[in-house]
Amino acid sequence: MTGDWEAPTHRDVAAARDRLAGHAHQTPVLTSSRLTAQSGAEVVHFKCEALQRSGSFKFRGAYNAISQFTDEQRRAGVLAYSSGNHAQAIGLAARMLEVPAVVIMPDDAPAVKVDATLGYGAEVVRYDRYAEDREEIGARLALERGMTLVPPYDHPHVIAGQGTATAELHEVVGPLDVLVVPVGGGGLLAGACLATRALAPQCEIYGVEPEAGDDGRQSLRRGRIVHIDTPTTIADGAQTQHLGTWTFPIIQREVTDILTVTDEQLVAAIRTLAGTMKLLVEPTGCLGVAALSQLSLTGKRVGVLLSGGNVDLVRYGRLLVGDAR
Ligand SMILES: *Cc1c(COP(=O)(O)O)cnc(C)c1O
Repeated sequence: MTGDWEAPTHRDVAAARDRLAGHAHQTPVLTSSRLTAQSGAEVVHFKCEALQRSGSFKFRGAYNAISQFTDEQRRAGVLAYSSGNHAQAIGLAARMLEVPAVVIMPDDAPAVKVDATLGYGAEVVRYDRYAEDREEIGARLALERGMTLVPPYDHPHVIAGQGTATAELHEVVGPLDVLVVPVGGGGLLAGACLATRALAPQCEIYGVEPEAGDDGRQSLRRGRIVHIDTPTTIADGAQTQHLGTWTFPIIQREVTDILTVTDEQLVAAIRTLAGTMKLLVEPTGCLGVAALSQLSLTGKRVGVLLSGGNVDLVRYGRLLVGDAR
């Protein structure tokens, strides 16, 4: 999907903010004196994208991309492949912009995410994520039906849209010293890089991914995009196999490091956010919080993106009580 686009910049993030104004929520930024004290930081600000429309930041990129369709593209519709949150985001953004939507989802996607996508009026096509290549399926459907594919992370308009979450955070709390961001394919992180370099040039930026799927960290170390098999982790929003051709160069240029956390650390973070901050955050959304203890944050002003809150409640309950099946 490298097409005729140019690499996105902070100006594209600013333009995305204008497009999203009045359509996306400006999500709250919360603090916890307990979590701040535990981290040693001067303050830790949590950007609550679990409270974004459709339940995650992905609404930002989806809306920013579809709203730039030509009339012809709008008529043919939008196509997406997603393990869940991008699907819901495309479903909702397409409905708001009155564009038909088809979403390709893995057959083991959480039921709550499939139902929500259907509920927004999108057509859902299922596939086996361990045996089939969703990008091939997407390309074929795009060709057959003339629909425009909006990928979950590797597209300049998606990256710029995701960057608006970080832009809001810096603007609300003032420039941060350290920003911690969950990573799957790197759209959220690449957008965060663009916004941060414009609004808080000195800020250190850390990505966090599941230990079982540390392709991002490997890619930074080796200086090229490393592909892995679909990792097994409770962070279903970060079960990506590789960073993108648009996201990686931005990440490589701007990111201080990519950290990893275990599923056990994610469960602990889920419990901390529920118990201390009364926040329902999905496993992937907890990646940033789970990594805080790895960083030396003394005296620093820290921002953490809580990226989403879409989790089946029965599964969430099991994670809370330690019966994580
Ligand atoms: C998609 C997603 C991520 C990862 O975002 P990328 O742009 O793919 O890196 C993190 N958290 C949540 C909740 C997500 O839905």
